[in-house]
Amino acid sequence: MQDADTLRRFIFENAPVRGEIVRLNATWRAVLERHDYPPVVRETLGEYLAAAALLSGTIKYDGSLIMQIRGTGPITTLVAECTSQRTVRGLAKWVGEIAPGSLSELTGAGNLVITIDPGPDLQRYQGIVSLEGNNIAQALGHYLERSEQLKTQLWLVANESLAVGMLLQRLPDTAAHAGQDEDLWNRVQQLAATVTPEELLTLSPADLLRRLFNEEDLRVFEAEPMSFRCTCSRDRVRNMLRALGPDEVHDIIKEQGAVSITCEYCNQKYRFDAVDAEQIFAADVPPLGSLTRH
Ligand SMILES: [Zn+2]
Repeated sequence: MQDADTLRRFIFENAPVRGEIVRLNATWRAVLERHDYPPVVRETLGEYLAAAALLSGTIKYDGSLIMQIRGTGPITTLVAECTSQRTVRGLAKWVGEIAPGSLSELTGAGNLVITIDPGPDLQRYQGIVSLEGNNIAQALGHYLERSEQLKTQLWLVANESLAVGMLLQRLPDTAAHAGQDEDLWNRVQQLAATVTPEELLTLSPADLLRRLFNEEDLRVFEAEPMSFRCTCSRDRVRNMLRALGPDEVHDIIKEQGAVSITCEYCNQKYRFDAVDAEQIFAADVPPLGSLTRH
């Protein structure tokens, strides 16, 4: 389908209201093919990934936006990550049998932490979303209204082949909007409230906008491609092992012959044997010159 893996941003011409539609298809299936999730976990993860993509479209940043849950309910861990390059990855862990339920029934008493990580050595931003309300769309809407004073509504839906989200946000008034269409935010909310999960899943972003806001003056920006990409690398694993320290790493190698690590997001395997370990920790020894120089 047209616009299969894209983020579409749009604004209403006569009032400070913006919106986005994200639609993940091959991207979403790439996340799913690496894990066998029960339907409830799958749908929850898909909604969070769509939400991460939508949120990342509302802010200017370089790096990763990470939504992470440590829950006490049947879903114990959930991570949805979107980079400023519009790549996503995600992961969920669960225990036991799991049935559809409200936000708190799925994740228990817990918080959702949103981190914006601009890369090594740079200041991270963190926000904490309390997991209240019926679903994550509601919880995020409340959070953005409270923390950013931006009225925001989200719609999220996922199945085995698509993760789709729509966001509408009332921006602060500017002089340019003074005296313009005061009623637009209310009207847009009412129109958007009629959207069904079925429509979100079956209509292309262009058709969805036509169906909902046909009478409104909209400016739709070019579709931005989204894709699946894991940010793991051999270098990152090497840094992790360096942080573990030589004793721990040499112990594992003595017991198991090598350190084998599988990335939980993409199933990529990394293996470090005794020779690799030597190289990792050799770099920590100061070069000879620095010992003799005074
Ligand atoms: Zn990976």
